[in-house]
Amino acid sequence: LSQLFRPLDMLGWVYRTIRQGVIDMGSMFDLLDAHAEVRDAPNAATLVVTRGHVRFEDVHFGYDPDREILKGIDLDIPAGATVAVVGPSGAGKSTLARLMYRFYDVTGGRITIDDWDIRDVTQASLRGSIGIVPQDTVLFNDTIGYNIAYGREGASDDEIAAAARGAAIAGFIQSLPAGFDTRVGERGLKLSGGEKQRVAIARTLVKDPPILILDEATSALDSRTEADIQATLEAIEHGRTTIVIAHRLSTVVHADRIIVLEAGRVAEQGTHARLLRKNGLYAEMWARQAQERAAEGGEEVPAE
Ligand code: ADP
Ligand code: MG
Repeated sequence: LSQLFRPLDMLGWVYRTIRQGVIDMGSMFDLLDAHAEVRDAPNAATLVVTRGHVRFEDVHFGYDPDREILKGIDLDIPAGATVAVVGPSGAGKSTLARLMYRFYDVTGGRITIDDWDIRDVTQASLRGSIGIVPQDTVLFNDTIGYNIAYGREGASDDEIAAAARGAAIAGFIQSLPAGFDTRVGERGLKLSGGEKQRVAIARTLVKDPPILILDEATSALDSRTEADIQATLEAIEHGRTTIVIAHRLSTVVHADRIIVLEAGRVAEQGTHARLLRKNGLYAEMWARQAQERAAEGGEEVPAE
């Protein structure tokens, strides 16, 4: 019988989760995969981010009990800093983001924001404080304007338009038959991966959260559009704690600190220049990507 009720439970959970804004995070698969047992503690407090100091203290986590993905992560992300997380695919980078957003609870250690264990605050206040631009964005079957405004209730038309400009998607929207009122999603206009990513960036600009997570936020964009948006992203990173998960290292050269994750452990961390001098995994990844850029005839990025 419990087999029968599980899907119903799940639907109720998905509905509540969507209302709380989790869909910011990404695909419906993520939602359906997430453990439904992430619940507010009985006396959960309302998180009010005053500084935005984020810490991971010996964080362990596995999606399945018999396979640990994060194997003791210590991170201290100062308020207002921009920290990049890089590393091979499968290293656990997106998992870090999902844990911060509390899609799942850690199995060991803890994550704190301004000294609050994130399990001691309401999910609504936690998620209201964090803006995530995910790898894959899900759009609502509604207008493109609605999809951008979804970042924050009560956003004005001007704010929505400004966000669209910041995300380099205003021109595209103007070219649509009904502009911001054009319906998108499964039952409307289908957007490309890059267009959806820009909608997600605009949504986050509207939300204006104190903590920002960009999970390969420009991975679906061509390098020209990425360059256009890069300036906006660096501007919004200013004055707020930002975690940038990146595949293309050229986009994180400016980070205050770069964390190299490998197989669920922090392999190296430091500034771009220090990591290059260290001649380890980061330097190797950098050299390989520099070669690829040269092969594509792209611009050289100064190694400082
Ligand atoms: P990255 O973002 O660094 O590429 P992820 O954090 O997405 O890596 O994934 C880390 C590991 O966790 C991978 O081995 C991946 O297969 C596994 N994984 C990711 N999501 C799930 C899930 N929902 N269920 C089980 N395993 C998962
Ligand atoms: Mg990832």
